[in-house]
Amino acid sequence: MASLMDDPAAGGRFGEFGGGYVPESLVAACTELESAFRAAWADPSFVDEYKGILADYGGRPTPVTECNRLSEQLGVRVLLKREDLAHTGSHKLNNVIGQALLTRRMGKTRILAETGAGQHGVATATAAALFGLDCVVYMGEVDVERQALNVFRMKLLGAEVRPVAGGSRTLKDAVNEALRDWVATVENTHYCIGSVMGPHPYPWMVREFQRVVGEEARQQCRRLLDGRDPDYVVACVGGGSNAAGTFAGFVDTEARLVGVEPAGGAAIGRGVPGVVHGMKSFVLQDEQGQIREAHSISAGLDYPGVGPEHAHLSAIGRATYAQVDDAEVLEAFRLLSRTEGIIPAFEPSHAVAFVAREAGRSIPAGSTVLVTLSGRGDKDAAQAMEMLG
Ligand SMILES: *Cc1c(COP(=O)(O)O)cnc(C)c1O
Repeated sequence: MASLMDDPAAGGRFGEFGGGYVPESLVAACTELESAFRAAWADPSFVDEYKGILADYGGRPTPVTECNRLSEQLGVRVLLKREDLAHTGSHKLNNVIGQALLTRRMGKTRILAETGAGQHGVATATAAALFGLDCVVYMGEVDVERQALNVFRMKLLGAEVRPVAGGSRTLKDAVNEALRDWVATVENTHYCIGSVMGPHPYPWMVREFQRVVGEEARQQCRRLLDGRDPDYVVACVGGGSNAAGTFAGFVDTEARLVGVEPAGGAAIGRGVPGVVHGMKSFVLQDEQGQIREAHSISAGLDYPGVGPEHAHLSAIGRATYAQVDDAEVLEAFRLLSRTEGIIPAFEPSHAVAFVAREAGRSIPAGSTVLVTLSGRGDKDAAQAMEMLG
């Protein structure tokens, strides 16, 4: 049997989760992508180029920072993996650079994406600019209005932003529109999914492109901790890519892995097994089986589903998933800013909030805790200003 967080079983299965539930017209595209990725990932020249770009363009490796004042306050030793210091301010670059390189390797010239809060759209547009690829980003009309600054960024980077008018005019409608485009243009177009979600091979491929976070962190922790691993490894979970990349570096250690979901969008905590967006995983549904909208202070986490590998890690008990509410998140946002001079994005503020709440309770005093700081908080400063005054 393959070890945990290695290649998935045939058909992209993680236990009972995952798989590829796509229309007939996209089966060939997913198969092509799977073979292209498998070959590329086994090709040292591809991996070298990917790692080289992440280093010289993206600023990797990102550091692990010891949080002295926060640790003293909480009574546990907190280390941060600093994805906020990567180019564009989050871990998202790791994934889009990988997928852009793969697009070129498959001989395709166009990349498409869908985005809710706009962060994945901006990351995709960034990689497209770097590689000279045509880029189209689908975005619900409501989100286009709410995220005017990110829409401007995407256009500045040379992408075309297509507002989607149907349905609730938010992320799930943009996903449908992106899929429709892909069906018609698959010859020259790659669909760049932004998290460990969607049909096989995406959850596996995106986790592999994010694995660099966990592999670096493991080495860095061992240097800081005299060869030991942290007792806890904590990351926020939207779709689950920063958490999956982080966990991949520690899954074969004794560390306890904890994913933190927003209470209003806890697909693992409050969802049920179901098929959505090409995969089987946990989804938020109402009594009629309709997908329920998720709500969170953080637009990057209010997605009603979660990556299938997290569903599996939860089912077998290798990782646990906790929830924090918006008030705790806002408090953690302020706490890290004041104690360490690091303004975190709202998403990783969920992970910090969990540690702040549980230190000395479910996390015993004196434990060592690694938290993945998936992104910086500049994008959330205006919203925080309104809420904190
Ligand atoms: C997009 C985003 C997330 C959520 O995505 P995951 O796939 O769950 O990692 C988390 N943090 C930041 C900073 C993001 O931009």
